[in-house]
Parts: sequence; structure tokens; C-alpha cells
Amino acid sequence: MASNTANPANHLPYFFGNITREEAEEYLMQGGLSDGLYLLRQSRNYLGGFALSLAHGRKVHHYTIERELSGSYAIAGGKSHASPAELINYHSEEADGLICLLRKPFNRPPGVEPKTGPFEDLKENLIREYVKQTWNLQGHALEQAIISQKPQLEKLIATTAHEKMPWFHGRISREESEHRILMGSRNNGKFLIRERDSNGSYALCLLNDGKVLHYRIDRDKTGKLSIPDGKRFDTLWQLVEHYSYKPDGLLRVLTIPCPQLGSENEGLQSHPATHTLPRSWAGGGIISRLKSYTFPKAGSKKLQTTIGHPPDEAPFNPYVLQRRRGLPGAEKGGQREALPMDTEVYESPYADPDEMKPKNVTLDRNLLTLEEGELGSGNFGTVKKGFYKMKKGAKPVAVKILKNESNDPAIKDELLREANVMQQLDNPYIVRMIGICEAEAWMLVMEMAELGPLNKFLQKNRHVTEKNITELVHQVSMGMKYLEENNFVHRDLAARNVLLVTQHYAKISDFGLSKALNADENYYKAQSHGKWPVKWYAPECMNFYKFSSKSDVWSFGVLMWEAFSYGQKPYKGMKGGEVAQMIERGERMERPEVCPTEVYDLMKLCWTYSVDDRPGFVAVEMRLRNYYYDISH
Ligand code: ADP
Ligand code: MG
Repeated sequence: MASNTANPANHLPYFFGNITREEAEEYLMQGGLSDGLYLLRQSRNYLGGFALSLAHGRKVHHYTIERELSGSYAIAGGKSHASPAELINYHSEEADGLICLLRKPFNRPPGVEPKTGPFEDLKENLIREYVKQTWNLQGHALEQAIISQKPQLEKLIATTAHEKMPWFHGRISREESEHRILMGSRNNGKFLIRERDSNGSYALCLLNDGKVLHYRIDRDKTGKLSIPDGKRFDTLWQLVEHYSYKPDGLLRVLTIPCPQLGSENEGLQSHPATHTLPRSWAGGGIISRLKSYTFPKAGSKKLQTTIGHPPDEAPFNPYVLQRRRGLPGAEKGGQREALPMDTEVYESPYADPDEMKPKNVTLDRNLLTLEEGELGSGNFGTVKKGFYKMKKGAKPVAVKILKNESNDPAIKDELLREANVMQQLDNPYIVRMIGICEAEAWMLVMEMAELGPLNKFLQKNRHVTEKNITELVHQVSMGMKYLEENNFVHRDLAARNVLLVTQHYAKISDFGLSKALNADENYYKAQSHGKWPVKWYAPECMNFYKFSSKSDVWSFGVLMWEAFSYGQKPYKGMKGGEVAQMIERGERMERPEVCPTEVYDLMKLCWTYSVDDRPGFVAVEMRLRNYYYDISH
């Protein structure tokens, strides 16, 4: 198994294995917290990666060390090294982005071995399978779902996956469990797990030489599961995995799951693999077993997120009627928060093979209804809410409507240019265009993001947590990474142009200033100074009119500042020219009150003066992702 292969850090005395961030801080505290004191641990979220915990100024700073595709190791955006040890040696002489030099290793106390991670790689696969089956996602959409929602998915898996395991028989009596195990084959190691009570304690029932043994599985105060005096696990399936590798106190290892004949577990019954389990079960680990069951499917794949009703009555909108029904995780313990994948706007409506994408993106005015009232406005005109009738129902949309009075053709061209950019983009973290419509006015029809601009939302919702904000800005960085990959520059990235679908789902919008770059250029050169959001612009934009993904990174730094300031205006009370002077002097905005140092460090990195030294979105997204995963555990 991959988890048993030699860890390239196991021999290092300062490597603690799979300990948590808090445990690392605890150890460094024990070590006196002197500047430069450090230890290495396994990354708990990044397969094969590590984390470096470093004391400085009576605080502990954490850096993620990624394992790159080439097999080398690097701190995101930094130099590559052949091994974690080499990276440590390098940073003992070169701070190179770290808060200080690595001065003194904190070694494991006598008797402490590096902590091993519980099947991180298996979990990866389990999550993948879960997302694939539950939301029926593939390819890019699947990957993005996993990356952005990993912490939530892990929890979902941990709390619900065992219910779908062939060995889990639910709430049955001790007698019934013996009856079931003794039925049919009597192979040693045949087992099942039953629920003992509703406090989260279970029993492991195991066949040994014709007799059924019952081991209690208790849940402690922290929620961990264990057989008395045994190793502790977060989940039942990790426990099963463990005891099918080694007896570790049991009379023997677990071999084959006791089948649930006649049970109502649809996924099991219908699947032939259940009946041919033994071989793969014994040898293959949890993944081969995974094939033998099906995760609960969401009834209708998408959750209707809007509160409003379509103009027509119900028959023509199946989504509204089916909302939230049958969502995984909603079955037990009430409703969970909607994930981006639960909403109607995670995938393009045209990803559905039944929905035909109009060839020339022009929409039929008869299929569009507009509501009274405005979502927003600008000098171009207004943005209204509406519904666009599609095969699968009425889709809530936001419609940018050009003012008719202004016969200025330049404004129309601008809208068409914006539409042209949007047409080429398709990402869960970017507002999609449904099409354009020429009728009483020119209209740009977009996906609806009901909760509106991020800055306004945060101004009104001070209770939103740091973790929540981190989640949202990480999603924005994913959308920006997609733009960077596809050679688009946004040029108006700001909190006002990030719209919220839910409190946990952000999308980038407003492509009015955006440009597609040609393959041979990595920046756009503006002819002249325009009506620019200068407080969001990098020095090269102001000085040379040069716009690139790197200048979007600068804006993203300002966006993060706005988000962690709960929608305050950046450089408050200053004029554009004063901001430019301040930047040229090397000064930057201060850390917002509730902003974690890790995020502020990243902001300052985004505000690196030199374009070449400034990170791109690949590195920015990775930093945010790691930090977000780290605080989510
Ligand atoms: P402008 O170029 O004037 O900034 P925007 O595209 O940013 O135009 O839209 C203006 C306002 O309209 C936004 O701040 C927001 O309140 C609203 N709006 C725009 N697009 C959407 C959408 N897809 N969903 C919900 N509201 C939207
Ligand atoms: Mg805008």
C-alpha cells in the first residue's frame, strides 16, 4: 500500500508525521518558541506533501511543502528541492520567503515516533467516487468540486460513508447479528458492524472458529471511535480498514463482510460485485470494496437556490418542486449547508446534453421574462432579475440591459465585447453568460447570483467567519487561475465584482474591461488611460498601461484586503494619485483587524512591485488552498 511505502522524512529526527497544526504548536511551545525553532510534519491535506512549522516572534508560522509532479519538493511558489531534508537545509541558510531562517530543529522526544496518517490516499479516492456519483460530475467540474470543497467532503464522507458499506448492518440486535454471520459461509474473519445505541457506539461482530465475538466500539468525547484499549479512528471505515490489515488486539483480522441479504440497501443488492467479494476484499483494501456499493444519489441533481418563483406556475419548473429532496447528508441530522455542487449554477446549463446551446448565442425574447426592480445599475443601464425558459425549466437569470436613450454605439460594442469574453468562459467560479438578446434593448443574460456583490454582503453580515471568507476568496482564486490558464485578463477584479450564489459560493463577474490575450503575448497594452479602478491596479498598469494575469494578482490582493475588512473601501479617503505615490514609496495597506497573518503575508506577496517576482494564480491558489484546508481541520 502507498501508505506503507517509506516516507522520505521518516528518518529525520524533527519529523513528527501526521500531527495536527495545533500539536505542532504545542511541541514548539514545549521547545521554548525561540525564533527559528522548527519541526516538520506530514501535510494532512496534500497527498505526499509536508508542512513546516516555524516559531518566530512568539508565534508559530506554518508553510506547506508540496510534492511536485516531478517528485521534488517546494514551498508554494518557491525553489524545488530533491527531498524535504534538502529543502530544510536550504532554508537554514536562506530565508527566501520564510519569516526567518530555520535555526534549530525541534526533535521528537524520546519514545515519540512519527505519527502515521490514516489512509490519506484511500480517502482521496473515496471522495472522488462520492462526488462523481452524488453530483454526477466528470472531468474539470469534478476536480474543481474536490479542490474547493475538500474539507466539507471529508466530513460528509466520514459521517455517512459507512452507512453504505456492505459490512454495516445498522441497528440490529446481538442475536440478529449472530444469526446473520452464521448464515451461509463460515469463513474465519467474516464480520459486520452494528449500531448499539444512538450515542454513536457500535459493535464489531467477528466470526472465529464457528463462534461470533462481539467487540464494543466506543466513541470518546472528541468523537473518536475505538475498540477498548485499541487505536482510535475518526471513522468506522478507517477502523475496518485498519483491522483488515492487522489484528492489532483482535483475535484475527477482518476478512469478508457479512452480506446483507434481503436488506433494503439498494446499492448493494443490485450490484453483482457483492457476491464475488472475498478475494478482492482480502487483498484490495477499501477501494475495491467501494465498487460494491452506491452512494446516495441526489434526487434532482441540483438544488434550487432562489427564493423567488418563476412567473409561470409549477408544471414547467421541476426544479422548484424537487429542491433539497434526497440530498446526501441531509438524511441524517437535519440539513447540511448547500455546497456549490448542489446549486443550479455549478455547471453550465448547456452541460446538459438535452439543452441546446444557441449557435450564435442570441436568445429568443419570448422565452425571457423580466421582473420589476433592479439588482444593480451603472452608466450602461440596469441589471434586472428575470427567468429564462429552458427545456428543464425556468432558469433564474440576471439581465444586463442597455439604456435605450443613449444612441451611443460605443456602449453597445462594449456590451458585445463583454458578451464575447463571457461566451468563451466556463468555470464554476465564474458567472456564465446564458446568451444575448436583442429586443426592446440589448440584453446580456447571465446566471443569477442571488446574494449579490461580496463587499456589500460582508458589510451587512459581520458574523461571517474568517474561515468562510477564506473559503470564498479561495474560490475566487480558482476562477482566476482558470482565467490565467486561458489567457484572459480581467482588469476589474474587486470585491464589488465577486457575486455570491450562497454564503459559501462565490463567482467572478463583470467582464466589461476584460481582454483575451493573443497566444504570443502575456500582457495587454492599453492605448490610453481610461476610467480605471486605480486603487486595484498594479504599478505597471499605472506606469506603462500593461495588464497581465500578474496585475490581476495585484488586484486580487486588494480584493482579499476588502474581504477581510468586511467590505470596507481600500485606501480610505485617499485619491488615486496618492495611492500610486504610496505604492511607489514601498508602502502597503495594513493588515485588516481580523485577517490571519498567513493571509496578510499572501496579500503582501500579491503586492510585490516587480511583475516578475510577483506570484501567479497557480501559486496564489495553492497557498490559499493549503491554508484553507489547514484551518478547516
Ligand atoms: P458594472 O460594469 O456597472 O460594474 P456589473 O456587471 O458589475 O456592472 O453589474 C452591476 C451590478 O448588477 C452588480 O454589482 C450586481 O449587483 C448586479 N449583478 C450583475 N450581474 C449579476 C448576476 N449575474 N447576478 C446577480 N446580480 C448581478
Ligand atoms: Mg461591477
